[in-house]
Parts: sequence; C-alpha cells; structure tokens
Amino acid sequence: PRRFDSIAMAAPDAILGLTEAFNADTRPDKMNLSVGVYKDASGVTPIMKCVKAAERKLIEDETTKGYLTIDGLPDYREAVREMVFGDQVPSERVAIVQAPGGTGALSVAGGFLARQCSGGPGGPLRIFVPTPTWANHNAIMQDAGLLVENYSYLGSDRRTLDFDAMLEDLRTKPKPGEVVLLHACCHNPTGVDPTAAQWKAIASVIAERGLLPLLDFAYQGFGDGLDQDAAGLRTILDHVDEAIVCSSYSKNFGLYSERVGAVGLVTASAEATKASLSQLKKVVRSNYSNPPRHGAAIVATVLADADLTASWKEELETMRLRITHLREQFVAGMSEQAGAPDFTFLLNQKGMFSFSGLTPMQVDELKNKYGIYIVGSGRINVAGMSEDRMDWLCSAVADVIG
Ligand code: PMP
Repeated sequence: PRRFDSIAMAAPDAILGLTEAFNADTRPDKMNLSVGVYKDASGVTPIMKCVKAAERKLIEDETTKGYLTIDGLPDYREAVREMVFGDQVPSERVAIVQAPGGTGALSVAGGFLARQCSGGPGGPLRIFVPTPTWANHNAIMQDAGLLVENYSYLGSDRRTLDFDAMLEDLRTKPKPGEVVLLHACCHNPTGVDPTAAQWKAIASVIAERGLLPLLDFAYQGFGDGLDQDAAGLRTILDHVDEAIVCSSYSKNFGLYSERVGAVGLVTASAEATKASLSQLKKVVRSNYSNPPRHGAAIVATVLADADLTASWKEELETMRLRITHLREQFVAGMSEQAGAPDFTFLLNQKGMFSFSGLTPMQVDELKNKYGIYIVGSGRINVAGMSEDRMDWLCSAVADVIG
C-alpha cells in the first residue's frame, strides 16, 4: 500500500509564512518587521568584516575537510568555554559540545536531559519555560522527550515582567531536580529581561529549590553589551553547581546559515563532567554524528586573533547601537503623533525584539493597509525599521491604533 497519500499538511510556521506573504506583496513601500534576523540601514543582513577576514584566512590555511570529532572543533569549544564561563567555573567542571546553532544546542541538551535525568515515578522530566517564549522551545523539548510546562513571565499589561508571579511559579510549580529554561538576555519574543536584583532573586529560588537552570543565550551583545548581557547568567552560575547554557553565534557573528552553537554543561566534579560529555556525545552521534566545521572555524579564528576580535566587538556594538537608536527614534516618533499612546516602555526592552502591545487586529490592518508586516503577537523586529521611513511607520501605527 502507498504510505504517503493520506499525510496531512503540517501547520505552516507562523513567522516564516509571514515572510512568504511579504515577498509576494508587490507594494514598493512594504516593510518587514517580522523576521528574526538583524538588518542594516539598507535592509540587508550583512556578513561582518571580521567574518570575511577569517574566511579568507581559512580558505588559505585549511588543509582538510575530514570529519570533526563528535564534540566539535577544539579551538571553538575552548573559545566558547572562555566566552561563556570565563574564570567563573573551573574548566574541569564544564563539558562543551559544539552544536548546529542554538537550536541544535537546545536539542542536544534536551536529548541529554530526557535520557540522563529522570523525571521520577510521575513520568518524564519536566522543563518549565516562560509564558510567552520562543515557540520552538516547546517543539524542541517535546521532541526530545521532556514534558513542557510554563511559568508566568509577561504581565497582563503585555509590556513588563510580572516578577511576583514568575517567582511564585518558580517557588511552587517545579519539583527539585526539574528544569527551568531562562532566556539569558534579550527575551524572545518580548524584549523584557529581569533586572540585576531580579536575577539575584531568581538565582536564590533556583538554588533553594534545587532546580536545574537551562539558559538560552542566543543574543549576547544585542542588549546592553557583551559583558553586561552575561550578567544574569553569571548570577545564576554564582548560586548553583549544575547548569546548562545553550549558546548561539547566529546573531552576534551574523552566522545564521552556518549553524554555530554550543552546549555548555556545568557539573560539580571532573568525573561528572567526563561522564556527561560522553553522554552528550552519544546524543550527537545518533543524530547528526558530528557538527559542521566552517562556521565554528570562523568563530575560533576571530576569537584567536586580537585584531579580528577587536573588529568583531566594534561591529557587534554598531549593530547593538543601531537597534537602540531605532527603538528611541520610534518612541520619539510616536510621541509626536496626536492621540497616540505612550510607547516609552519600549525603551526598557532589550535586543532585536519588542512586544509592541499592538493587537492582532491592528497587526492585520498594518499589513492590509500599509504593507507593514508584524508577527500576530505584536512582536516587532526593531532592526527591520528604517531611519528614513520612521515618520511613515509612526503615522501608520498611529492610524491603526486610533
Ligand atoms: N533561542 C532563541 C531565544 C532564539 O530566538 C533563537 C533564534 N531565533 C535560537 C535560540 C536559535 O538560534 P539558531 O539556531 O539560529 O542559532
């Protein structure tokens, strides 16, 4: 019998579907604020100069396309260890596995947790994710075999953190040993991050309750700066002796299509590190066997060279400041629109994304009337705005709100 005839269509990806609609839109003044990639002033997702320089070097120097080991390129793994854990955690307590992007890292971490950390007699291990969160968190962790639960995050005003509700949930919902996923910085989709004092309180609850923190670190350098964006993670690591950090270099190196990420697993002892690393490798082996070389080699090359590292930091800072500037310009622009609500709350949100507070109907009207594409939740990719067309954007937003 034929097996494929009766297969049902999967639901389309909400955000990628919007991009298709955007591409098909023939209006010349359309604007795409939906996708999750950085864009420069000309609307392009650029290749960083430091990346181009590293690639030229690699083309010259590379001698083989032989397989990497299961855990990836040694220089890259060491660079990730330094960047994410620095001097804070002794290296014998950290297992690093290169992974295909932050998505791959989350998937490897999920597979490891499902196999190695039992959920107890009640069933599979539970992982608690914020409401809302990056939609793929749910899918990745479910596929890995974990049970996904939620903790409160965004307040009913849809613009600030409901910290009391979050802390209460972390205190009461997960059992000791269960996993709590935290966005280390630049929360996707809201742009709402905890303050330093709030991170301390979160870390205390996690430590007191014996929860296992899993930090998703996909936007380092897009919020307040490279070091500043690691502050929450540092606070957590100060309070616990076991943690997982899934990092991605898609955004801060602009290496989206090269698939560069890593799992960093912190254990309490050198023996636990060795055993955990062997089990992480087992997850990789039966999945994609070993990671791709090129993107990781680029990151390792940049971070091994002082000049290229300086150039990377400068270029990253330019991207960060452009986003900050657009955010400020938009808020200022909206304040000039007669009768428009106050948008200053956007200034407290971090990273590429912001929850605008626009309703699904307003989002729809922006698309139909103006060709401005925003995700249904009201999430805006600030980097998709344009300085030159800010007045037009603001008057369109004011029109659909009014
Ligand atoms: N985590 C979050 C919160 C993200 O927004 C993304 C990218 N959209 C990722 C992880 C994964 O990034 P990638 O797989 O492209 O490295």
